[in-house]
Amino acid sequence: MARSFRTWRTAALLLAAALPASAQSAAELRTADVTLRFEAGADAPRLVSLQPSGQESWSNRAPESLVSSAESKGESVALHWKFDPQASIIEARHVVFVYNSESPRLRLSWEWTARADFGPVEHKVRIENLDTHEFWLPLQDSFRFDWQVDPQAALEQMYVEKGDGSPSYEGTHEVSLASGYKWTGTSSTYAHPGQGEPREIIPWCLVENKEKSRSGWYVGIEFSGRTSVSLALDGNSLHGSAGLNPDPGPFKTRVEPGQSFETPVVFVGAFSGGADAAGNVLRRWEREVLTNPLTWKKPDYPLLVNNSWGSGMGIDEALAHRMIRDSAELGLEMFHIDAGWFRGVGDWYPNPEKFPHGLAAIADDAHKHGLKFGLWVDWTQAAFDTEPGALNARDPVVQNWLVADLPPGWKPEPFKGQTIDIGYPPAKDWAQHEVNRMVDDYHLDMLEHDGYVVAQGCARTNHPHAPPDPEHTKIYQDWGASWVISSNMTDVSYHSVRAYYDIYSNLRKNHPGLLLEVCNDGGRMVDFGSAAHADYFSITDTYDPLSNRRAFYDTSHVLPPAMLESYIEKWPTPRIENFRYMLRSGMMGWTTIMQDTNAWTAEQHSVAKEEFQLYKDELRAFVRTADLYHISERPDGIHWDGAEYFDPSRKRGIVFAFRGSTEKEPWHTLLLEGLHSDRRYKLRFHDHTSPDRTVAGRELMEAGLTLHLPVSNSSELVFIDEVGGK
Ligand SMILES: [Zn+2]
Repeated sequence: MARSFRTWRTAALLLAAALPASAQSAAELRTADVTLRFEAGADAPRLVSLQPSGQESWSNRAPESLVSSAESKGESVALHWKFDPQASIIEARHVVFVYNSESPRLRLSWEWTARADFGPVEHKVRIENLDTHEFWLPLQDSFRFDWQVDPQAALEQMYVEKGDGSPSYEGTHEVSLASGYKWTGTSSTYAHPGQGEPREIIPWCLVENKEKSRSGWYVGIEFSGRTSVSLALDGNSLHGSAGLNPDPGPFKTRVEPGQSFETPVVFVGAFSGGADAAGNVLRRWEREVLTNPLTWKKPDYPLLVNNSWGSGMGIDEALAHRMIRDSAELGLEMFHIDAGWFRGVGDWYPNPEKFPHGLAAIADDAHKHGLKFGLWVDWTQAAFDTEPGALNARDPVVQNWLVADLPPGWKPEPFKGQTIDIGYPPAKDWAQHEVNRMVDDYHLDMLEHDGYVVAQGCARTNHPHAPPDPEHTKIYQDWGASWVISSNMTDVSYHSVRAYYDIYSNLRKNHPGLLLEVCNDGGRMVDFGSAAHADYFSITDTYDPLSNRRAFYDTSHVLPPAMLESYIEKWPTPRIENFRYMLRSGMMGWTTIMQDTNAWTAEQHSVAKEEFQLYKDELRAFVRTADLYHISERPDGIHWDGAEYFDPSRKRGIVFAFRGSTEKEPWHTLLLEGLHSDRRYKLRFHDHTSPDRTVAGRELMEAGLTLHLPVSNSSELVFIDEVGGK
């Protein structure tokens, strides 16, 4: 992280004299965007208030609800927490209130940390077992709130869906809150929206007061396991929680002597100026604090990529060499082999018939052509290959790693097998060794994981997680894998996700320049924990221009655009304007072509080459660090839509404008944001669809930028340069 923490406006305060009798001490954490005030009561801590900078505070009505019992040897014991001022820490950037339980001997740390002088503050609860035998703990939320609100206030909630297999018709939800409102959003790595389960959200939600400078607060969860965020409004109480998903319950988790349970870390922030203002601070915080600093130091991040899945499982050596030559000719920067290269599922060695010279030879050819080399793998899947190194589900040792026994007659699918539970240490050790081996052996610059790296439920009783509840356990088969539905699902995901993070931290340590793509059957693992442990996401598993723009619109509210990958698949492009539209629909973030570019016409080649050069010369700088504004309704493919980047430090911006299939609307106006009313801006229409001109900021923000595109399914890029006052 390049930032220093030089400008702390206030140090934390110890205000014992001014406190109510029940409170033992108080503290405050402040960043440029939020001030949080805390109080340590005798038997529970309390978040007193959250204040957006320069705005009214949100007052929290209730003390923290700490776990009140633990289970030992089948008996439930009540826990009585007592504040420990000596062990507590109050520093400028870090507040920890410690509570002890005498019998059993447990220590609870209620921690808040500001990792930067701007943006949100992080929070977690750690419960340490200081006793001599193991305990089982019930669910401790990461964060609970009960804000005192004016029942007349114009409150609006925002939450966004994951792009999943395909973006839905809504995606970005903005809901006016009325008394009686009750909502829960869930996230895991396993959404099955087709099977009656609700669509998953990116585990985050925001509440804005439309009348108070559009100010409010947001919370997000830095964890990829089963989590939920809930919100309800009852009269003057706006209450809810964020943390591990309590359903299906009852949740319990084992804590051995000397070990700890930690809730998923949440970040809590505040803003004024609406959701894009909140997003611009959050995305910067994610770039500078949450994500891998080495990645942002790469001048070519995010890369322009050519991926082999346009030819499906048909990839082989000859096609790879042809694609590498054409990728280099087009100015692309990485060649990425998708599924189809391996001997079999779980047998992650190159298929000798397709790749007689191995994969390192392909990587070396890519490198010789100035390209990086990336590889798809589904490294938690076992099947029946028996060659040395293969993860063989019939091997008695491996059998116990599978989430359930294989049903009679089970067969793997072409690129999916049976999931192993990496939360089980021997399985984790194998996986950690295997991913390191592949990166070394195949000379990888990027490793993409697909499939389900995190077990959903697990039927095993000798793994670290809670055992399944035999009376309520269901096992079913789908997509070549067993799915275990049981009360232990959340605890299984807790252990499995922590193992996944350990494996990737180890991989990064051993290979500091390596890039990691999170795919997980498309956009099913888009959350802030995977953002902290990998470098970019496949944001949806449907790749046409509309799906790409919809998934980008939703996801970019909460994550840096550079991390948001669009795969650009073959799409009907009778006119060259349609071809540019197809490309640009996937060029607002990380761009991956998923077509055999050898099949493009000479004109398409030359246009694509220009677009890729433009990305490197101009677009990438915006994608990396500029502020982003959602300046239209969410794309519907029919009407117009657009996105605006503006970088205040360079005084430059760009508008991506898209005309959908409409026959009726050749003209359209977009209201711009983030400009100065009293400055003038030069507009440069990249495709010359309108003459360049200079316009006042006020006009662009109040009357708007008018565009003219005569062709349906076409686009324009408008560059905006500040040229002076008035
Ligand atoms: Zn397990």
